Amino acid sequence: MKEKMATKKDYYDLLGVPKGASADELKKAYRNMAKKHHPDTNPNNKEAEEKFKEINEAYEVLSDPKKKAAYDQFGHAGVGAGAPGGGYGGGGFRSQDFGGATDFEDIFGSAFNDFFGGQGGGRGQARSQVQEGDDLRHDVTLSFEEAAFGVSKEVKIRKLSTCETCHGSGAKAGSGKVTCNMCHGAGQVRTSQGFFTVARTCPRCAGKGEIPGTPCTTCRGQGRVERERTISVKIPAGVDEGSRLRVRGEGEAGLNGGPSGDLYVFLHVEPHEFFNREGSDLHCDIPVSFVKASLGTEMEVPTMEGAVNMKIPAGTQSGKVFRLKGKGLKNPGDSTVGDLLVTILVETPTDLNSKQKKMLEEFEALSTEANTPAISKFMFKMKQLFKKK
Ligand SMILES: [Zn+2]
Ligand SMILES: [Zn+2]
Repeated sequence: MKEKMATKKDYYDLLGVPKGASADELKKAYRNMAKKHHPDTNPNNKEAEEKFKEINEAYEVLSDPKKKAAYDQFGHAGVGAGAPGGGYGGGGFRSQDFGGATDFEDIFGSAFNDFFGGQGGGRGQARSQVQEGDDLRHDVTLSFEEAAFGVSKEVKIRKLSTCETCHGSGAKAGSGKVTCNMCHGAGQVRTSQGFFTVARTCPRCAGKGEIPGTPCTTCRGQGRVERERTISVKIPAGVDEGSRLRVRGEGEAGLNGGPSGDLYVFLHVEPHEFFNREGSDLHCDIPVSFVKASLGTEMEVPTMEGAVNMKIPAGTQSGKVFRLKGKGLKNPGDSTVGDLLVTILVETPTDLNSKQKKMLEEFEALSTEANTPAISKFMFKMKQLFKKK
């Protein structure tokens, strides 16, 4: 708590105005800062979100003459959490409704109504209750082809969605609202921790200071219900094992008009019978008989778009790699296409009959050093090695 108090920023600094600023100057500064750091213009930016909260807090205090006077005299201890002895007014900072929501309405007009929840015209809605929905993770396994060419997948997820009966307010229609019996309307509850009194957002009303007179029966007052939803996810061509897609706004519903979280789709790709992937390049091994590798041949090799003919020159060695340009996969990052790398594996014949054996022996007898340069080179080196000793 001590650290937290020490790092609390000066409210005037936060709004970028001098101490003697007029109400109009404060309002103008606040409007600029709040627009700049608003979560809608800075999605998924924790820093901006934090700044936005701080700016609101600063303006809520400085726009209220009583709180401003207390802040000017006592600093943060005069207006908020952690003030020893209860702070301003002895009874603590009672009027937690801040009047802020009303100001929001006239400052921003309708532009930000969505963000602050349309329900109830914003009366008594301190910003502390607005809460972003959680992000969700869902894993999807694709066939090799689906990953290569892209696919649209239906994804079924269970998630907290805004209650359709009460539109997220948590209240039964027409039942109105009553003062929260936990914080007695303050929106915060206080607990003692040694010397300090710590204020935190009331868990029952989530900082609203009021709760539904009669809770909505569908969501039991929670404003959200768990529902199964089918979401169509467009998966681009060329995704790979471990790729991740973000579907904005398809996470859990926010609270009290807060934005929904995002859905993260984690992708897995099944192996292929022929191909291995390395980024957008494909690899495959092709076995070739030693006779064809010796004489040269033309043969069919598989690609993602069907078989193609490939020339194998005479004297091709086992392990030789041929690159087929542009026969790989699309790179989802840019629009480049990878290559297909074909590795030739020369197969040594097995299970020879006597005629084959005889022919091979004849062949061997006719062979010269030029027929097998690698063997000749090796034999020469061997001789050198043992001469030295
Ligand atoms: Zn409901
Ligand atoms: Zn409460």
